[in-house]
Amino acid sequence: MVSEQTIHGTILYGPELELIEGYMVIRDGIITEVAGERTDSKNIIAPCFVNAHTHIGDSVIKDPVLGKCVDHYVERDLGSLVQPPHGLKHRVLEATPRDELMEGMRRSVTDMIQTGTCAFADFREGGIEGILALKEALQGFEIECRILGRPKRINAGYDELCSEVERILMDADGLGMSGANDMDMHILGTIGDIAKSKQKILAIHAGEDCRGDIEKALSLDPDILIHLTKADRNDLKKVADVGIPAVVCPRSNFITGAGMAPVRDMLNSGIDVAVGTDNVMLNSVNMFSEMEFLSKIFGLEDRQVFIMCTLMGAAILGLDKTGAIIERNRAKVMILNGNSCNLAGIKNPINSIVRRGRPDDILSVII
Ligand SMILES: [Zn+2]
Repeated sequence: MVSEQTIHGTILYGPELELIEGYMVIRDGIITEVAGERTDSKNIIAPCFVNAHTHIGDSVIKDPVLGKCVDHYVERDLGSLVQPPHGLKHRVLEATPRDELMEGMRRSVTDMIQTGTCAFADFREGGIEGILALKEALQGFEIECRILGRPKRINAGYDELCSEVERILMDADGLGMSGANDMDMHILGTIGDIAKSKQKILAIHAGEDCRGDIEKALSLDPDILIHLTKADRNDLKKVADVGIPAVVCPRSNFITGAGMAPVRDMLNSGIDVAVGTDNVMLNSVNMFSEMEFLSKIFGLEDRQVFIMCTLMGAAILGLDKTGAIIERNRAKVMILNGNSCNLAGIKNPINSIVRRGRPDDILSVII
């Protein structure tokens, strides 16, 4: 049976988010028509978020100790929190029963959908077992997920490591590596080459708390760089010259003490920039919060911020037919209540959603 749905309101249409007052028709999950028409509806129909970098595996840790408190200030220690193999995250993941990890992941996926996210890219630790657990956790959800795994047995022999990577890539969309300073570069190059030979994604953290691993990461010719918080203009020029997109995680960088990423310089260098919420142990998966940070603390233009958090994420992750509200694309939209107490009286939906939008303004999410 064909399902058809018509939604009225103000539509953020196409790649430029043109504002159209009218209606859109969704037929069997595909946008078949968008048309202008006078309407009394206060609905705002916007593309869903694409959360371009997460680690939902650590959803069981919500409030870790961030570091030592000195004179009311917490001295953050990123390494002790997340660095493999002995960071807090890895110790807790090892010690937590599988069913608790699964439930934590399912809760985070539900939270993502409820807060307007239609797709995400997850760096999945734990080798093949970690990937299979995430796939199982995703069962029954419509959300799209790019699973980027990583080998567990990095100190095993060459043949064993290669066969683990090949096995991972049978089930994952690519590799999500910790960082070029965390592993022998020869090994990293080898497993990166395996991903490339199979046309899979190679993504890696780089420049998160020092810029010393950016050059090394670039030498791997990755598809996506995560963070670049400490990148200087020369680094950004090199990244732009080779056309590698970046995913920034503003709230994560602040809570770990990494600081403020040069997002404005990235954009001015011509780098495609998407946004992620990073570890669930550090942040909620709520993309509205990232937008508010990017608008108010980074001072970026609101339309640009919204594109980074939605359409650019879809483009960087190669999510075909996901992203812009346009005929023949999949309908992945959130319908916001333009008459909520928070949004009533707004003049420009894009500025308003970016600066003050909240999950409780969402009436429904169609994915
Ligand atoms: Zn990360």
